[in-house]
Amino acid sequence: MKGHSRRQFISSCLYLALCGSPFILQFGCRKKDKSTSLPDISGHENDQPKTDSGFEPAYLSLHKSGELKKRGEELWNMMKSCELCPRMCGVNRLEGNEGFCRASSQLKISSYHPHFGEEKSLVGKRGSGTIFFTNCGLRCVFCINWDVSLEGKGDPGTIKELADMMLDLQKMGCRNINFVTPTHYSAHILLAVDMAAAKGLRLPLVYNTCGWERLEILKKLAGIIDIYLPDFKYSDGKMAAKYSSGSETYPEITKAALLEMHHQMGVAKPANDGLMYRGLMIRQFLLCICSWQFYCFGLNSILV
Ligand code: SF4
Repeated sequence: MKGHSRRQFISSCLYLALCGSPFILQFGCRKKDKSTSLPDISGHENDQPKTDSGFEPAYLSLHKSGELKKRGEELWNMMKSCELCPRMCGVNRLEGNEGFCRASSQLKISSYHPHFGEEKSLVGKRGSGTIFFTNCGLRCVFCINWDVSLEGKGDPGTIKELADMMLDLQKMGCRNINFVTPTHYSAHILLAVDMAAAKGLRLPLVYNTCGWERLEILKKLAGIIDIYLPDFKYSDGKMAAKYSSGSETYPEITKAALLEMHHQMGVAKPANDGLMYRGLMIRQFLLCICSWQFYCFGLNSILV
């Protein structure tokens, strides 16, 4: 970012997304992947769970110092009058109330499994260790995971169970832990990562978000999240309001969020093994509107 203004940075991102890497299409990146079953791994001794030489996940030192737990608790307390996402609806989730996102303090998860439909640099041979969280604060009319994000499909779980899921995914050989739609459960996630780190979690963490994130919350994730994987859905607030439940602030908030993510993690570069361990990857979406149906395609991801 040195030597570049914010305007230049955002312009570059959009230009690259639309023109720079045009036909690396990754249709349905957010779609439930039909190829999520674990492939036959017999005979792949060289593909055992491993991290790139010298890689240490960002959260490990904060776990050791107690800062990770402290930040998780700070986020947890924010649910008293919830301000975890830009809706800032002020609901007391700790008393069991549900916010605009339909989430209370009860963690709810739709599924977790190795996922092979993500970007190649996140998948490797054993998949990205994806955890799909139920509910969402953005609530887009075209959501591909509408049954999970809008209709609340999923099962209640505990923070310990979430930590165990991460450890399971690590045992399966996944290359990272990929939190899909994490924003409203950011407190649960940090507390679970703290627990899992104590039991040996060492995989990079991917924050797979709609991009509509508050700076205050992102600053609490600094030094914890290794890879930011945000969408950039709208540059027009009116469109955002129309198709994402009145979120007219989406463009300005998301641009600021992307800059903060970039500030924290810098340029994303695959390591020598072709896998991503750190950085910011932005997903640009292409929305097609027919008279009776929406189609939403993940157009591509760009590294910035
Ligand atoms: S995370 Fe949910 S409850 Fe909290 S501010 Fe956002 S919509 Fe409201």
